[in-house]
Amino acid sequence: MDFLQIFGTLSVTQANAPGRVNLLGEHTDYNDGFVLPTAIPQHTTVQLSFSDDGQHHFYSANLQEHVSILDIHHSPSGFASYIFGCIEILKQAGYTIPSLNVYVQSSVPIGSGLSSSAALEVATLRAIRQLLHLPIDDVEIAQLAQQAEIHYAGVQCGIMDQMASSLADTQHILFLDTRTLERHILPLPSRTTILVIDSGVPRTLASSGYNQRRAECEEAAHLLGVKALRDITDAQVTESLPEPLNRRARHVVTENNRVLEVLQGVKPERFGKLMNASHTSLRDDYEVSVPALDILVEMLQQTPGVFGARLTGAGFGGACVALVALGAEKAATQVLEQYKDAGYTGKILVPNFEVSNAA
Ligand code: ADP
Ligand code: MG
Repeated sequence: MDFLQIFGTLSVTQANAPGRVNLLGEHTDYNDGFVLPTAIPQHTTVQLSFSDDGQHHFYSANLQEHVSILDIHHSPSGFASYIFGCIEILKQAGYTIPSLNVYVQSSVPIGSGLSSSAALEVATLRAIRQLLHLPIDDVEIAQLAQQAEIHYAGVQCGIMDQMASSLADTQHILFLDTRTLERHILPLPSRTTILVIDSGVPRTLASSGYNQRRAECEEAAHLLGVKALRDITDAQVTESLPEPLNRRARHVVTENNRVLEVLQGVKPERFGKLMNASHTSLRDDYEVSVPALDILVEMLQQTPGVFGARLTGAGFGGACVALVALGAEKAATQVLEQYKDAGYTGKILVPNFEVSNAA
């Protein structure tokens, strides 16, 4: 069902925003540190028209779900909360937003850690900006999107996802200092591309493990007398801490240093080595990997044309990301077969072979 079939009118404007994957800088954001996400080819499209009955109407083609909002004082749940949140946050910023028909369609895998939520928010805000000619820049779009997710979807997120969706594209990486919001747009190393494979292992322990790591980092920072672990640059300093805080802190310090090295400009070979080192650190020092991720990462690292690979996201399951020579991403299907022989069922998330074949 397209826009006309759902709303009985044609759309007036539309905008896109991509999902994202973090290449380097894992578990650094809540330590005031550095991250290095890039956009993925899959994106969310939001089409708009004015609604003439005084209500908002939202439709998701992915969910085949239609939500009408009668009472604007009552926040909806589910996917509508993200869109409603964007509208309400714009109103709070002083803009007058009329009732809207909103049609959402996305090729970003939903709930797989590739940030379909930020893509939905950023595409919604871009479309409204276009419709109403609002004087908002891309950084403000990211900030408004983050506020919408926190206050209306109830997710205590940082700003990485929204900044990546708003500022990065598939040929560029966003360097972001999560403390100062200093940012740089870096080119993806030449003649490389990104591969993302889901391990098939659900992130069951992710939230408890995540909270525990956050608490450990806070304690380590406290013992070292700094505001956040980002303030430590020499990994040797962490040796004074008791187990396992010494290793937790060492991961954060070395990970931040790896991101800063990329910021200086590195060749793909070096970038890949830093990704490999990141995985080792996440596995041994931060202890957020699981056997399936270790196996998949190792298979990727041994594949010709792969510069480096690591788990991406919070860990305890979820996906792996690899930096590969252009063309070598086709080897992903062989990696999946090998992975299957090891007893696991993975899935290629990026590039989206199905879509690119069909196009
Ligand atoms: P991720 O951002 O990693 O994909 P989240 O749990 O943060 O996972 O966000 C997923 C949620 O975002 C979905 O449950 C849904 O509410 C909303 N969402 C994102 N994209 C869409 C879409 N195209 N249609 C409907 N809902 C969507
Ligand atoms: Mg999300």
